[in-house]
Amino acid sequence: MTRATCPYCGVGCVVEVKVQGGQMKSIHADVEAAPNFGMMCPKGALLFKSDDASRRLTEPMIRDEKGGPLRPATWAEAIRKVADGIKDTLTQRGPDAVAWYGSGQLDTEASFLFTKLFKGYLGSNHTDTNSRLCMSSAVAGYVRSFGSDGPPTCYEDMDLADTFFLIGANMTANHPVLFNRIRRRRATHEGTRIIVVDPRRSKTAEFADLHLAVKPGGDVALLRLLAKAALDRGDLDLDYIEQSVEGFAELKQQLDELDVDAMLDACGVPAADIEQAAEWMGGGRKLLSCYCMGTNQSSRGTDKNTALIDLHLMLGQVGKPGAGPFSLTGQPNAMGGREVGYLAHQLPGYRKVTVDADREALEQAWGLAEGSIAAEPGRPAVEMFDAAARGELGVLWVACTNPAVSMPDLDVTQHGLRETPLVVVQDCLKDTETAAYADVLLPAATWGEKRGTMTNSERLITRSDAALPIPGEARTDWKIVCDIAQAMGFHGFDFADSDEVWDEFRRLTADTLCDMTGITNEQLDQHGGTHWPYPAAAERPTLRRYVDGVFPTPSGKARLSTASYEPTAETADDEYPLNLTTGRVAQHWHTRGRTGHVPELNRFAPHPVADVHPSDAGGFGLVDGDLAWVESRHGRALAEVSVTTNTRPGLVFLPFHFGDTLHPETAANYATHRVVDAISKQPELKHAACRLVAA
Ligand code: SF4
Repeated sequence: MTRATCPYCGVGCVVEVKVQGGQMKSIHADVEAAPNFGMMCPKGALLFKSDDASRRLTEPMIRDEKGGPLRPATWAEAIRKVADGIKDTLTQRGPDAVAWYGSGQLDTEASFLFTKLFKGYLGSNHTDTNSRLCMSSAVAGYVRSFGSDGPPTCYEDMDLADTFFLIGANMTANHPVLFNRIRRRRATHEGTRIIVVDPRRSKTAEFADLHLAVKPGGDVALLRLLAKAALDRGDLDLDYIEQSVEGFAELKQQLDELDVDAMLDACGVPAADIEQAAEWMGGGRKLLSCYCMGTNQSSRGTDKNTALIDLHLMLGQVGKPGAGPFSLTGQPNAMGGREVGYLAHQLPGYRKVTVDADREALEQAWGLAEGSIAAEPGRPAVEMFDAAARGELGVLWVACTNPAVSMPDLDVTQHGLRETPLVVVQDCLKDTETAAYADVLLPAATWGEKRGTMTNSERLITRSDAALPIPGEARTDWKIVCDIAQAMGFHGFDFADSDEVWDEFRRLTADTLCDMTGITNEQLDQHGGTHWPYPAAAERPTLRRYVDGVFPTPSGKARLSTASYEPTAETADDEYPLNLTTGRVAQHWHTRGRTGHVPELNRFAPHPVADVHPSDAGGFGLVDGDLAWVESRHGRALAEVSVTTNTRPGLVFLPFHFGDTLHPETAANYATHRVVDAISKQPELKHAACRLVAA
């Protein structure tokens, strides 16, 4: 048996892989092992069926001319082509023409080395990942409110809370093991309440004690009404506010002057339901809020998240067992990527490219000349592909993700991939939709074949080991980065194994807010998952942050915001009268590179289904089972229509997993748009004006 962290969602389940005859035979979960204690969902349990050998990329491949056929190549040839391409681009066009787009599914070691190579050695901060599409509004919210990224909470809080407020998180589909834990708490603790905020009556909402079917984009209006209700009910923790919070007078004035009728109209939730929710959230009950893409993927994502954190701060529900605002990560290592600084504005150890001392610390640690790291943030994901589409990139290196399906407004993204002279795609599969644009394909080891670390939603770092040998000539992601860096003549990439990479990164976190110096290779191997911060001198890891009511802000206090309701970037009109929201289904993961090939999963979700309210289906002359185009101003996607009252009138839900090369017209992201949150730069994948057209 070999231990590994599930490569799908941010729950980060630790599983045991059984191998027989050189193949994975089964997956189990150990009842003793954190964080899942024996639980798994069907996706995880079927992992052993998800690796299709016929689709594996097992040797490097090269296109001799743009758009020409791919041919097998040696590693030496592929590495030379990438290294020379980067060098030539740097010489001719400068570091702004070199970019990397990665993934929250890469392990921490590879993510760290990509960051080190690009930001440290190439002088390009143009590194960003699909975490930008997933979690960047959560990052911005924590930083704005607490002065630092990283959740204050842990999974144990799910065993202790009195009220769960789940907003923008369909946990039955996307974090099923955690939702089971919440249900277990309700079953064993009388009086536990679950409130779900979602425009759809999702499976999660079906389990709720109270479902608030908020209008798309109406979250801030709802959260401010809840804050006002808490104020009016006398539920605020004034002692906590006095000691640990700043900005209360400004927010109280905003709440005193709140246009209640306008906010009720904006959120579409009955006043009586808001009052009921406020009662269950106040009164000193332990309040745990879980949020995810529903609040993050918005042009107002940062405001939504800070309005939620404001509520917790005013109720004094931060840093206590069973309480806190808990952003759930969508991917298994989105947290680890943030820790190594792979987003365009970050550096390892929660440092920032804009802070002189942070750049200098890294330059010294890496033995680089002063000024090697650029002081300007790089291009976040949407801007990166916009730049590619304008022909501003010379090299785009894509690792472990499939932007040709998952980025918003796909026509622009795909145009960018065509326009970039050297597209390098590092993946374990040879037939992804992004691989079709690759000039060089680099074969990477996949889950179950490599050792590495990941950080889950609760800051728990776990270590995976290899259960199987790496097939063919594929290499681990961290090794590929080192090979190319060394071919360019860079020192600092001479690692014997992934443990040495972890050690370098771990040491760089010393005295930072995410200090992991106590999380040695031995700690991970002997004691299993470990929460950060855990400085080497500390007695134990840190389960909860901010328990002393002190925050890493200049004043030491958390900051209330004055975020106010604004409508979505696109609103429905006569031409496009509906609102498109995209999301996931329980059976699939991202663009179905694995799950699309597991018969037991695919049987239940073989193609995209658009959920449409009966009144909207009737208005467009559609009935259940029809094929229809979901059309927006940006493009259109084909789906089967499911007529259901589980969605609000005016709302169309479409999963984003589909759009493979056989059926590219089913990709939801042809119809999404590129407007981003001004602070987090996360695109608004939850809201686009649309209409339906029978196919
Ligand atoms: Fe994997 Fe998430 Fe399922 Fe756990 S809950 S087995 S991490 S997909």
